[in-house]
Amino acid sequence: MNVDLVDWMGSDESIVQAARVSSGTTGSWAANKGLINMLARDRHGSPFEAVILQFKVDVPLFVAREWFRHRIGSFNEVSGRYKVLEPVFYVPNGGRPLKQIGKPGAYTFEHGTQTQVDIVEFAHKAGAVEAWHLYQEMLDAGIAKEVARNVLPLSLYTSFYWTVNLRSAMNFLSLRWAHKDAKVPTFPLYEIEQAAVKVESYASQIAPEAMKSFNTNGRIAP
Ligand SMILES: Cc1cc2nc3c(=O)[nH]c(=O)nc-3n(C[C@H](O)[C@H](O)[C@H](O)COP(=O)(O)OP(=O)(O)OC[C@H]3O[C@@H](n4cnc5c(N)ncnc54)[C@H](O)[C@@H]3O)c2cc1C
Repeated sequence: MNVDLVDWMGSDESIVQAARVSSGTTGSWAANKGLINMLARDRHGSPFEAVILQFKVDVPLFVAREWFRHRIGSFNEVSGRYKVLEPVFYVPNGGRPLKQIGKPGAYTFEHGTQTQVDIVEFAHKAGAVEAWHLYQEMLDAGIAKEVARNVLPLSLYTSFYWTVNLRSAMNFLSLRWAHKDAKVPTFPLYEIEQAAVKVESYASQIAPEAMKSFNTNGRIAP
């Protein structure tokens, strides 16, 4: 899965400027760091919207459909109606936990046996090859792309641009990464969590103090 930062606007300073317009004050960098921490701690969220991040994301469809539930942000996705899709499919590797223990909302996961790893790999590959074959057969028979694509599985990769402000990105990160510092537990899908780690790495480069405050205040979106 790829998550690349393609563009951005703003920084820690933009958050400070947006917040300080209310009082017309300025401050030292130490004071500004304290201000950012106070904004995160007390959930004064709107100054964090001064930072905008734009990502290019390549993930399987089952990850994208979870991602698209985050309504505060903008998406532009590759179209299976207008473009012949690429035969790129997700196959879980041995590192992906396979056994689900517990009840909805409170699952834990365990690694599978080698036999389970093998069947998962076999089923994903066989399903993808068969589906791709049928997709091509329909295209060759003159069927519209938007109809032929119906047979493709959730493991097919899609690509999209995600333009999101830092406040909304923090909300995404609070829900999609079961982080040790989180005050509120979450149980995200393994694959979207892998992607969330990459999102946070970029966010921390663009607005390091804001992301530090997000973490020290329990990863609760302001
Ligand atoms: C572990 C996990 C399991 C999940 N399981 C399911 C599931 O089984 N079924 C399912 O359907 N979804 C499920 N979801 C999706 C979840 O319900 C949210 O839709 C998703 O996480 C997006 O969160 P959000 O609404 O906070 O984000 P955004 O849509 O980006 O919204 C950000 C914030 O804006 C505000 N907001 C946005 N829209 C509205 C609105 N219409 N009204 C009021 N306030 C609004 C809220 O404060 C919200 O937190 C799951 C999510 C997680 C993390």
